[in-house]
Amino acid sequence: MAFVTLTCNTCGDEFGAHPSANAAENGYCSPHCETDGKGL
Ligand SMILES: [Zn+2]
Repeated sequence: MAFVTLTCNTCGDEFGAHPSANAAENGYCSPHCETDGKGL
């Protein structure tokens, strides 16, 4: 299992995600940050 380290686009925290996970594509550490990041 290879994980990539990403920086959340919303809160700036680093988090690990599997490259195939939605988080890796979206760049958000959590659904909450994804919502905030998209301004929903
Ligand atoms: Zn975040």
